[in-house]
Amino acid sequence: MNTLLPTSTAGSLPKPSWLAQPEKLWSPWKLHGQELIDGKRDALRVALMEQQLAGIDIVSDGEQTRQHFVTTFIEHLGGVDFEKRETVRIRDRYDASVPTVVGPVTREKPVFVEDAAFLRRQTKAPIKWALPGPMTMIDTLYDAHYKSREKLAWEFATILNQEARELEAAGIDIIQFDEPAFNVFFDEVNDWGIAALERAIEGLSCDTAVHICYGYGIKANTDWKKTLGSEWRQYEAIFPRLRESGIGMISLECQNSRVPMDLIELVRGKKVMVGAIDVASEIIESPAEVAKTLRNALRFVDADKLFPCTNCGMAPLPRHVARGKLEALTAGAEIVRRELAA
Ligand SMILES: [Zn+2]
Repeated sequence: MNTLLPTSTAGSLPKPSWLAQPEKLWSPWKLHGQELIDGKRDALRVALMEQQLAGIDIVSDGEQTRQHFVTTFIEHLGGVDFEKRETVRIRDRYDASVPTVVGPVTREKPVFVEDAAFLRRQTKAPIKWALPGPMTMIDTLYDAHYKSREKLAWEFATILNQEARELEAAGIDIIQFDEPAFNVFFDEVNDWGIAALERAIEGLSCDTAVHICYGYGIKANTDWKKTLGSEWRQYEAIFPRLRESGIGMISLECQNSRVPMDLIELVRGKKVMVGAIDVASEIIESPAEVAKTLRNALRFVDADKLFPCTNCGMAPLPRHVARGKLEALTAGAEIVRRELAA
């Protein structure tokens, strides 16, 4: 990466209204069959162009081809019965009806590899691709087969590794694992969660990242945040082990969050994607606000390891708001770049 402070997003961007209901998470597709296949690819092109017009350095597919950041991946696997549903508590926070693991989980075919190759053909810019992390995957399922969270996570890590190797071969530069569950199950993260992630990145030579956030700006998450007190110290429990891990980059929620910035010192040496855009608010940050967050982070991250980013995905936001936030991120990063150069 030649640019200092290269910008990117945590992952999802709003979908066009002809593809899915806007401002709604996990909205069902509006198209079917070949129209849906074509529509997803058109949306991917639009998402790419919007990132590039806004000046984002490391681009993504905006998750235009998936409905849900975990479920869409699991839908492609064997051993999971989507008809057999159970209600479970997700991340200790809200109840959801989820599919059941009924036998050994297997990856019978590539999941996102064709989409990734398609994106690669559209641009020469560095590309980041997001996959769900093993711990977050098991937390979105009912397990009637392995009856062990650790065992199932390990199986998913093996499957994710197969997918990740093929994504790398398709030209992906950074593979990111989304692990919001890392902010909840600290003991498990340290016992086997980070080890499972390391299994998922085995043999990769591209950059690897883990995204650990406080979730989309939906009510269950904002209500949960209200219970976390004046300082959010969740990262503190897992950073020491994460620092020793083979994961290269860590994506964090820093804008309008109550995470004490000095916690980042605990992962000194890692590349840090600093969330400088709040995805739970429709208020577009000013470039000065973004710059302030980045400057604050620079006290604990070396400049060559700081990657300005969004707190989380922007799928539920109105499109014009998401576009405005991308532009603010670029402009804020540019302010700090100039200061560093001076
Ligand atoms: Zn997130």
